[in-house]
This record gives sequence, C-alpha cells and structure tokens, in this order.
Amino acid sequence: MAIKCSKCDTENPSDSKYCKECATPLHSSEGSVTETLETPTEELTRGTTFADRYEIIEELGKGGMGKVYRVEDTKLKQEVALKLIRPEISSDKKTIERFRNELKTARMIRHKNVCGMYDLGEEKGTHYITMEYVPGEDLKSSIRRMGPLGTGKTVFIAKQVCDGLAEAHRLEVIHRDLKPQNIMIDKEGNARIMDFGIARSLKAKGITGAGVMVGTPEYMSPEQAEVKEVDQRSDIYSLGVILYEMVTGRVPFEGETPLSIAMKHKSEIPKDPREISSQIPEDLSSVILKCLEKDKENRYQSAGEVRSELTRIEEGIPTTERVEPKRKPITSKEITVTFGLKKLFIPGLIVVALMIVAIIIWQLLPQKEAAPTVSSKSSIAVLPFEDLSPEKDQEHFCDGLANSIINALSNIDDLSVRARGSSFLFKGKQRDLQEIAMKLNVEAVLEGSVQKMGNRFRITTQLINTADESVLWSDQYNREQGDVFAIQDEITLAIVDSLRIELLGREKAKLVKRYTEDIEAFNLYSKGVFSLNIRTVHDLKKAIQYFEQAIEKDPGYALAHAGLAYSHILLTLYADLSPSEFYQEGFKAKEAALRALEIDNTLAEAHASLGMIKWHVDRDWEGAEREFMRAIELNPGYADAHYSYAYMLMHMARFEDATREMKLALELDPLSLIINRNLGQLFYRAHQYDRAIEALQKTLEMDPNFSHTHFYLGITYLQKSMFEEALAEFKKEKEIKKGVDFHADALIIVTNALMGKKDEARQMLDDFREQSKHVYIRPYLFALVYVALGENDLGFKYLEKAYKEHDTYLPGLKMDVLFDSIRSDSRFKALLKKLNME
Ligand code: ADP
Ligand code: MG
Repeated sequence: MAIKCSKCDTENPSDSKYCKECATPLHSSEGSVTETLETPTEELTRGTTFADRYEIIEELGKGGMGKVYRVEDTKLKQEVALKLIRPEISSDKKTIERFRNELKTARMIRHKNVCGMYDLGEEKGTHYITMEYVPGEDLKSSIRRMGPLGTGKTVFIAKQVCDGLAEAHRLEVIHRDLKPQNIMIDKEGNARIMDFGIARSLKAKGITGAGVMVGTPEYMSPEQAEVKEVDQRSDIYSLGVILYEMVTGRVPFEGETPLSIAMKHKSEIPKDPREISSQIPEDLSSVILKCLEKDKENRYQSAGEVRSELTRIEEGIPTTERVEPKRKPITSKEITVTFGLKKLFIPGLIVVALMIVAIIIWQLLPQKEAAPTVSSKSSIAVLPFEDLSPEKDQEHFCDGLANSIINALSNIDDLSVRARGSSFLFKGKQRDLQEIAMKLNVEAVLEGSVQKMGNRFRITTQLINTADESVLWSDQYNREQGDVFAIQDEITLAIVDSLRIELLGREKAKLVKRYTEDIEAFNLYSKGVFSLNIRTVHDLKKAIQYFEQAIEKDPGYALAHAGLAYSHILLTLYADLSPSEFYQEGFKAKEAALRALEIDNTLAEAHASLGMIKWHVDRDWEGAEREFMRAIELNPGYADAHYSYAYMLMHMARFEDATREMKLALELDPLSLIINRNLGQLFYRAHQYDRAIEALQKTLEMDPNFSHTHFYLGITYLQKSMFEEALAEFKKEKEIKKGVDFHADALIIVTNALMGKKDEARQMLDDFREQSKHVYIRPYLFALVYVALGENDLGFKYLEKAYKEHDTYLPGLKMDVLFDSIRSDSRFKALLKKLNME
C-alpha cells in the first residue's frame, strides 16, 4: 500500500518515512489517532477562505476528529490552527455541547507549555475548533525521525510537559489523551501540550458507544481502559508511556487491536526500559516505571512530583548532556550558520575568510544601543476612550480598553508607547493634539470612543499622525458584549500595521494575549488599576478590594493577582504599619505574586511586583534585581518596572545604573509626578544638588502640592547649607499634609541642630518623643535627630530598633547623606552588613 504525502499528495512506498518529493514526514495514521473511523470527507484546499475568515495555508495533519489546518485569521491577521470536526462527530448535539463546556475550562489554562484554545464555531453545518498555531514538530514525529532522545533531551521536554500538566490539573482539567502526537516541540525546543479538553468531549455514544475507547490505546491508563472515572493520575500514567517512548523509541505495550493493548495496560508488567537500552540512567528508569504503576495510588500523585524527580535526575547528568533552554535573540535580526559535518573540514584560510565576512555582516547589522535614552523608534500615546454611552457608566471599560492596548503595544521593541499615567492626564480635556504631541513626545495618538447600548458596544477609534494631524487609520466596530476583546486585538494589530512595524513572533503572541474573557472581571481589574495609580493608602485599599473581586470572577486572571500583589506591597511603603502589619501585607503580596506567576510565569507585572517584595520584605537585593530584569526583558516598554528597578538601584547607591533606568522610565511616562520627583531624589542621593533642585522644581511646576517634593527640595537645600530655604520647604510639606508629617518634623529638628540652635532642637525633640507615646513614629527618624545632635550612641540604639521593627526607611540607610557623620563607625558598617548592603 502506498502512502500519500499530506503536503504535496505524492505517492510514496509504504515503508517510506519521508516524502520523496518534499521530505515531509509521512505518518501512517493507524493506531495513533484518537479513534479510528474512516477518512473524513471534509477537506479544505490551500488558498481558499473558510467561514469568511480563515485562509487556508496548509494542512498540518489528520487526527481522529478530522483534519487540522494552518490558517491565517484574516480578521486578526494572525496564524491559527483550525481543526475541523467530522460530521459523524458533530452531528451529535450533545457532543458539541460538551465541546463547548470543555473548551470553556480548557481556555482557562494559560501556560507557556499548553497550546491555547480559542473557539468553537460552525460554518454551514461544519463545526470547527480554532487554537493557537504551534509551529514545529510533534513529539511522535521527532521520535520517529531521531529515534530515542537521550536523557538530557527527554528530561528537558518532560519537565515542560509536567509544568503544563500541573497548571491544567490545578484548574482541575485532565487531559485524557496525552500522547506524543499531542505534544508539539518548537524550534527552540519548547514543548506545548495540545488538545486539552477534547478527549472528554468525545466520550459520547456513537464514538465510545461503538466500542471505541476515548484516548489512544497505547497511552491509556488501566483505569481509563476500564472506562472508570479518571483523575490527574491517569495523565501521569500517560506521561510515563511517553517518557518510556522517548528513551527507548517504543511504547511499553503494543498489540493488534485496541482491546489487546488495553488488556496489557491492565495486567502486563512493562519491561524495564534499561533492558531495551542500558544507557538509560537507573533513576530515570525507575521514575518511568513508577508513573506506569497499575494502581494509581502507587504512582506519583502530581505532575509537580514527577517534575522534581526529573530535576534531580538532570542535576546528576553531565552538563554537556543537559539541554539548556534557548534564549531568544536580543536583536531582531538573526544569523544562523549551520555547518554540515563535511563542512567542518574546511581549510583554515577559508575559515578565517568566513569569520571576517561574519564580522563584517555583524558590524553592518544595527546594534542595540547601550543606553537608548533618545530613541528613533516610532512613538505612540493611547488616550483613554471617551464614554459616549447614554448612561455614562462605561468609564472603567473605556480606561481598561486603553490600558490593555497600551500594555499590549509596549511589548514591541520597535515602538515606544507612553505609559498609562501620562496619557491618561489628557482624559476629559479638550483635546489639543499639538500639546499632547509635545508633552508626550509622540508621533502618533490613538483616540476613540465607546458607546454601550443594551448588550451592544459601538467602538470607534482613529490613529492620528501628530505631525500633520492626518488620520492614519480609523475604524468602527459594532459588537455584542462578548466580542469586545476581539476588537481590542483588532485595534492593536491595525495600529501596528498602520505604523508599518514588523513584529517578532514573541511580540505577536503578546499582542493578542488575553488575560481574561470575563468582561466583569476586566472592568473590576480596570477599577483596581485606577485606584492603584492614585497611590494613597485609602485608594490602595480600594484597589485591593477591586482586584480581589476580579479574581473572584476569574480566578485564572493573572494580571489581577499581580495587581493585588503590587497594591499590598505599595501599602507597606505608603502606610505607617506596625511590624506585624508589615509582615502581614508582605505575606499577602508575595502570595498574590507567586499565584500570578503560577498562572503565567511570563507576566512582567508579576515579576516586577515580586521584585519589590524581595527587596522590601525579604531584603534579597540580588533576587529582587533578577526579578526586575526579568520583567524588563519580558516587557521592555513597561515603565513601572524600569522605575521600580531604578528606585532599588538608587538605594544600593548604584547611581549610574539608577539614572539610566529612571530616564528610561521617564521617557515612557514623561508626565509621571512620581518619576519626575524621584529623579530629583536620585540626583540628591548622588550628591548632584543643582540637578536635584531643577528636577524637583519641574515636578512642582506640574503639581505644586505633590507629596514629598517639598520635602526632598528641603533636604537638598540643607546639603547646600541653605537652612532658611530648607525650613520653608519642610513647612510647606507639613501644610500639604494638613500639619501632620513626622518626617518633615524630624528634618525641622535636624535643620535646627545643624544651624546650631541645639536648645530649640532639643525642645522639639521632647515634643516629638511625647507624641510617639500615642502614635507610631519610625525609629529611623529618631536616629536622624540624635545623630544631628551629636548623640551617636542613641542614634545607633534607634537604628538597631529600626532594624528590629523592620522600619521601611532603613533600606535608605546606605545612601542617606544625613548619616554621613557616622558612616565610618564600625557599628554603621555592621548594620549595613546585616541589611545585606555591604
Ligand atoms: P491527533 O492528536 O489525534 O494526532 P490531531 O487532529 O489533534 O490528531 O492533530 C493532527 C496533527 O496535526 C498533529 O499530530 C500535529 O502534527 C498537527 N497539529 C494539530 N494541532 C496543531 C496546532 N495547533 N498547531 C500545529 N500543528 C497542529
Ligand atoms: Mg492532537
């Protein structure tokens, strides 16, 4: 029997592995598909458009349900995979209903090792499923092509499968048809599990009823073969079979019929993989056999357990055999030079010549700027959408929409997107394009409006070139409530298109990434972000409530968890908390950040929050730096990450790095009061007092009452011995705080002490001490005052107290010039050491 190539239709001899015409791997589909009915009648030809939307690029393969195609979603201008459901299956209404339900749960799994499921649709009676298109090769084909994989590669892939499974199991989704055909490996070696939720839908009569079991016999657990209820341990069994096949090149049980294979799963003891290949490490072989235990109680109970075993095994193998995750290149251009074996024997001179050519090419390629403070990228501001609804109740949706578009666009390297804070300052104002262009320094502005009528949304948007106010692109959408997220994707892609930006694969994926499908959760999140950005204790507490409500609506909403973490950690900074309250907030922050990362470990917001926590709560400076760097790597246009990182670097007295990051943050968020003010603070800390005064005065021009600006201006004057000016600023700060500001009070005492007015200073100190009997005053402030008065022993006593009580001002110790007089004291050094700052 000849095998027809699925790609070019050439007939090949039955034992061929590859098509003689186009070298596509030839699959014989028998025994490997989900169930075995005849060839589907449904077929689509290349170049045609299906359902008015999907342009067929090529056929990817054929499975039990029907054919799978790689298509271009012409609406979103994105490639997706389209799986047709054969009429025999789709004619059963209940099956389709189950698909609908299963897809709902399967869609909740958002994980880098799980292929995202999109939608279930119907076109002229043909049902279909769309999902993420995963380029690469399925694991079955890889094993066919390369034979057994070797320990390093096996562990590398299996660990990722465990990660994907663990996330699905956490959401209580069991795969039920885990097999190498459902694991795709991309060219970076990353694994992705496909088809979550599909097997269970097929548990219909007509398919199972006809005596065919759900699942693929070779990979099916004994309990599944008995059609018993299964749990996550059934997937672990299948994982065991896959591991077995990866290391030996064959499955543990083969047979003529599905039933005979199922019988073996139930009662035959698998052969030890080491009997097939002695190169398999003993511990790996025993992990595999434990996964394959007949009784699920004797297997590993969770994917996480298998993962830790694999990690342990990986540590034991020689580094040369280990497979490290490949990093994506930093530049968008990529040169890959592959040497065939023969080519390795090139004479030396030619090698040198090749190297020279390579160096020249390298130099001709645009290099990434070291400190891209002035960039030549396209730049854009996204203004909040205007609410034109009759009820005027869509403000949060309008803000949220702009916010999501900003977040999505900021992932693009070639585009500089102004942060929410700066763009939203123009909300509700008479639009003056030239003013916006100038203040935000942008070439393009996106604006739009939302009108909600009943269940329908009308969204209009336009992208304007600020140079000549011409419209680059505009569109209007009329959609049902549920469709608004698709509109968001369409808008983002249209912007990219209009600005003629070429996307990297990674960027494209992030651009249309959905964090929730629940519009209520989305609106609650948006309210949370709104409150979070006001940054008063009251509003931070409100933000926490909104994020919690968003999570209640959609527990898998990673961004809401990250927002929750951020709010809790900011509370530790903005609220005067007692030590136990401090730890409580810190704990909640950490819990939320870790939860966010568990759902999506590529979420920049969550890494940035964790960075803040590691720094503030754990005093783990290195760990914090790693988190900030990861956040920036994941989303280079994320202003808050640059800013937080800069702020920590400032505390580490790494002023040069801090200035670089602060300026990057400021470019993205030019009108941010916090960033402008803290650029001033940074200059003050770096002893550049004139620049500090300039930055702080600029902040006060933007908002004369912005918290702490007068305070920093005051301490800057103090360093310049401009005592009267300093006192005036501290008093202004107190006025803004309605008379209560212990920090300003402490500095007024310090100023008096430094002016030589020691008696007055002492009198104020007595007052201060009296107050501290009723309210919590940070020991750090007492230390400042005592040191200024020359009472260093008392100063150290309070610094020690600050350490014990986890005073959040303490991390500022290293670069606090007000402590310069005791810097060389051994007690000071010892304290820095305890703070991991020496
Ligand atoms: P089965 O899982 O039973 O092998 P499927 O119908 O799920 O059958 O898929 C058939 C083949 O199509 C897979 O083995 C894989 O090579 C390819 N394929 C399926 N889904 C995708 C996808 N989302 N992206 C890329 N290739 C896919
Ligand atoms: Mg599949």
